[in-house]
Amino acid sequence: MGLFSGFEHIVREQEPLAPYTWLRVGGPAQYFAEPTSVDELVDLVKHCAENEVHVRVLGSGSSLLVREAGVSGLVVHLAAAAFSQISAEGNTVTAGGGAKLSHVISTAVREGLAGLEPLAGVPGTVGGALHDNADANGTDIGQWTSKATMLTRTGAIVEQQGDQLRFAYRDSSLDELAILSAEFTLEKADAEVLTKRMQKFWIVKQSSQPTANENPACAFKDVGGMNAATLIEQAGCKGAAVGSAAVSQRDSRFIVANPGATSDDVLKLIEKIQAAVHEQLGVELETQVRIW
Ligand SMILES: Cc1cc2nc3c(=O)[nH]c(=O)nc-3n(C[C@H](O)[C@H](O)[C@H](O)COP(=O)(O)OP(=O)(O)OC[C@H]3O[C@@H](n4cnc5c(N)ncnc54)[C@H](O)[C@@H]3O)c2cc1C
Repeated sequence: MGLFSGFEHIVREQEPLAPYTWLRVGGPAQYFAEPTSVDELVDLVKHCAENEVHVRVLGSGSSLLVREAGVSGLVVHLAAAAFSQISAEGNTVTAGGGAKLSHVISTAVREGLAGLEPLAGVPGTVGGALHDNADANGTDIGQWTSKATMLTRTGAIVEQQGDQLRFAYRDSSLDELAILSAEFTLEKADAEVLTKRMQKFWIVKQSSQPTANENPACAFKDVGGMNAATLIEQAGCKGAAVGSAAVSQRDSRFIVANPGATSDDVLKLIEKIQAAVHEQLGVELETQVRIW
C-alpha cells in the first residue's frame, strides 16, 4: 500500500461501507482507517493533507447514505476506545467524539445530571450529534455543550468554547474535520427521577420511529417549522417506494431500505419525494441524511 506506507496496521483498501451504516447499502471506501489513538489519527490526517487525500469521518452511520460507487479518499472511523471515553465531574460530562450518545446520556442520568435525557433514543455518536446538532423533544445537544475539541484537515487540534460555539437547526460551528471530544455542562437533579424521564423519552421514541433492523435513515429536514412528514404525506408520498426502498409506515421523514434495496433505490426515492413536494406544495425539501 504505497500511499499509506507506514500506516498498514490501521488502513485497509476497498472496505465495504454498507455494514457501517444504518441503511446498509452503498459501495466501499477507497481507503478506510480505524486509528487507535489521537496521535495516530493526527499523523494519518497530516499524511493525507500532504498527499492531497480527501478525508471523511464516520460516526455510527445513522445519518449516512453511501452511493453505489463508494467513496474515494480515506474514511476514518473513530471506533477505538481512545475516542469513546466518558467521564463526569461536578456538573460536567466529558465525552469522546466516538462515544455513543446513548452512553453519554445514561452516564449523565446516573450521575444525577439533567439536560441530555430528552435525546434518549437518538442513535449515533457524540461527534455525529454535535456536527448536525441533534435534537429531540425540544432539546438540542448544542444547548448543553460548553466546549468542543476538534482536529482540522491539516492535523491541528483546536478548541471552541463559550461564545465561539454556535448551534442552529441541523447545523453547528463544529465544522472542522473531526470532533474529538466535547464537554456538556448540565444541571443537578435527582438520578431516580431522571432515569424515569429518560426511559419515558426512549419508549416514546422507539414506538414512533422505525427500528434499527428496518435499515432506516431520517431522510429529510423539517422546513421552517413545518414537519417534513406532514409535507411528504400532503404531497401524496405516504408509503411511496422505489425498488426495495420505501417511505417508513411509522414516520414519513424516514426511508427504510428493505432487503434487496440499493443505494440507487434510496437516492431515486429521495428525488421522487423532493419532486412531488416541490410540484404539489412549492416547498424545497432538503436532505438530512448525508450523501457520500
Ligand atoms: C431511527 C433514527 C432516529 C433518529 N432520530 C433523530 C432525532 O430524534 N434527532 C436527530 O437530530 N437526529 C435523529 N436521527 C439522525 C441521526 O441519528 C443523527 O443525525 C446522529 O446524530 C448521527 O450520528 P452518527 O454518529 O450516526 O453520524 P454519521 O451518520 O456517522 O455521520 C453523520 C455526519 O456527521 C459527521 N460526523 C460523524 N462523526 C463525526 C465526528 N466525530 N467529527 C466530525 N464529524 C462527524 C459525518 O462526517 C457525517 O457528515 C435519527 C436517525 C435514525 C436512523
